[in-house]
Amino acid sequence: MFQVKFWGVRGSIPVSGPEFERYGGNTACIEVRCGDHKLLFDAGSGLREAGLALLEEGVTDVDLFFSHCHYDHIIGLPFFKAIYYPRINLNIWSGHLAGKMSTRQIVEQFISPPWFPVKTDICEASLNFRDFHAGDVLRPRPGITIQTFALNHPGGCIGYRIEWQGQILSLVFDIEHEPGTLDPVALELMAGADLAIYDATYVDDEMQRYRGFGHSTWQQAVKLATEAGTKQIALFHHAPSRTDHQMEELEQAAKAAFPGAFAARDGQLINL
Ligand SMILES: [Zn+2]
Ligand SMILES: [Zn+2]
Repeated sequence: MFQVKFWGVRGSIPVSGPEFERYGGNTACIEVRCGDHKLLFDAGSGLREAGLALLEEGVTDVDLFFSHCHYDHIIGLPFFKAIYYPRINLNIWSGHLAGKMSTRQIVEQFISPPWFPVKTDICEASLNFRDFHAGDVLRPRPGITIQTFALNHPGGCIGYRIEWQGQILSLVFDIEHEPGTLDPVALELMAGADLAIYDATYVDDEMQRYRGFGHSTWQQAVKLATEAGTKQIALFHHAPSRTDHQMEELEQAAKAAFPGAFAARDGQLINL
């Protein structure tokens, strides 16, 4: 089994309301199952519900990887109930600030007053902090190989290429592209992948206005996937202002350009 579940697909900030019901309003959180192994990528607001489901299931061992630590990718961590349960063994990984700040420092600084009422010393789970550098190959559990890449994003970000039983899942967000070029890092990440989850915050017409913000477009996802031989692309990190109606139009346009494209939704489950 190689399974992906989207618990949060929005970028920047969670949103709610009737115009966001179909695609969802939680920020970045993706659960990946490789056989019995449970991995989580990013701790956006979607992590709260992911945690409730894992506890319900009786899970004890989890690996959580940060792409980077902008708010939309960490805000769910204090509300991830598993960290307060003694039976949980949680490995927390990051690499985007290698040499500047450790994973432990990132988590302990942000879960502490005055940003949050308590510190991580009240967590009863075993929290095991893991640091790596972009370019390292991670083997978090038997049979899982993860290549790591530095993405073009303000403050740094890590892209992950996860291999399990010959299949490839690529996580390619948050990343900005240079219009008119294909980023060689993105191409390497996405080469022959069964599914690539790609930053589609903007559409091409908006790109000029948001240069330097660190994001990309569905049109760029299609160009990269076509060149890289990617089978499916999940558009991800949707702009907080993009309504369901606009998302549907965007998704249709992307599908017309690349039949394996879809826009990820909260709660969506994909079997690779
Ligand atoms: Zn983000
Ligand atoms: Zn970011």
